[in-house]
Amino acid sequence: MSAPDPIIQGWCPGALRPMMSGDGLVVRVRAVCGQLDDAQMAAIADLSDRFGNGILDVTQRANLQIRGVTAEDHPALIDGLRGLGVIDADVSVETKRNIAITPFGGDAPRDLARDLTAALSDFPDLPGKFGFAIDTGPEAVLGDVSADIRVELNEAGQMILRADHCFTGAITSCETVIKDMIVLAEWFAAHGVENGRGRMHKLLARQPDILPKPFRGNEMPRPQQVIPAAGTIEGGTLIACAYGQITSGDLRVLSALVPGVIMTPWRAFFAPGQAVTLPAASDGLITDPNDARLRIAACPGAPKCPQALGKTRLLADQIAPALPGNKSLHITGCAKGCAASGRYDVTLTATTAGFDLHHDINTSPLAQLTSAQIAADPKFIFQGPSK
Ligand code: SF4
Repeated sequence: MSAPDPIIQGWCPGALRPMMSGDGLVVRVRAVCGQLDDAQMAAIADLSDRFGNGILDVTQRANLQIRGVTAEDHPALIDGLRGLGVIDADVSVETKRNIAITPFGGDAPRDLARDLTAALSDFPDLPGKFGFAIDTGPEAVLGDVSADIRVELNEAGQMILRADHCFTGAITSCETVIKDMIVLAEWFAAHGVENGRGRMHKLLARQPDILPKPFRGNEMPRPQQVIPAAGTIEGGTLIACAYGQITSGDLRVLSALVPGVIMTPWRAFFAPGQAVTLPAASDGLITDPNDARLRIAACPGAPKCPQALGKTRLLADQIAPALPGNKSLHITGCAKGCAASGRYDVTLTATTAGFDLHHDINTSPLAQLTSAQIAADPKFIFQGPSK
């Protein structure tokens, strides 16, 4: 059995416009300026238990996604989230508030994000996936994060506004950057949008010479790929989550542990200015960069998802201690693959007969195994098909 073709949506899910997944609606909570305080975290955990299935995605766009929500419960969930100040005025503003912010650099990047958020209604209509990156920390770290308009600092500390895909940018400042972003967005809306879709990098790959002159003025290298390791890092602690998701219970533990967090695109929370020691009760929170669960993606599976044909989390816990150091693993409760993001060395897909083993998800399974067989010899699944 090969995996179904992925459905490419022209928009990102939000809270007001959630996306249907196999386990129900996925309601994306876009933390304002990337920050959540302890009370917000605890309340979101409660809302996830009440209206979802108690499992939340920690996304590569630095958001939390409440999973397993029914259409009937969605309005009440939105009311609850609105009371926490994390819901936008309408879908149009929510769609535009696609802002990645460096977790580093103190308040300045978040102050700029606040100014940008306040000005979003002045921006033209943009495709649903169009986004902004505010990457003005001590070094740029969002180079691999999807965005169309980027704000960075050059070596001289000047603020640079850069169209994604370019090695050049326009010098700007705190006073002028929002106005300049609107100019760039209006130019893109006029040249790069077709049927409501379009991305900056695709437009400039097709037509590299059409960018207006000011944005072709100053050369600067694109940021390198940066993925900080979980644990204590400069300026605070990066707290990652097993399998790229957090349970409502762990979110509550986190809320009791820190006064607030900054969401990061590395599927982790940043606790600024704090050395965090995790209590034993937080079994899905991770500050050990060598924890094998950082290389495993597992959807909620049974019994959380009604479509699941297997207990993904239980199996993931059984395999993790035997996961080879250079391997990644995806365990999915059915062929929909809700938790997948990127490529994996091994995929286990639950079926009515056990789990299909794939080394290449686009070809037929190498074997069909029961969870008991896998748990008895987890290393087997990483070996070649000739064993
Ligand atoms: S079992 Fe997993 S992959 Fe399938 S619909 Fe449910 S959450 Fe999605």
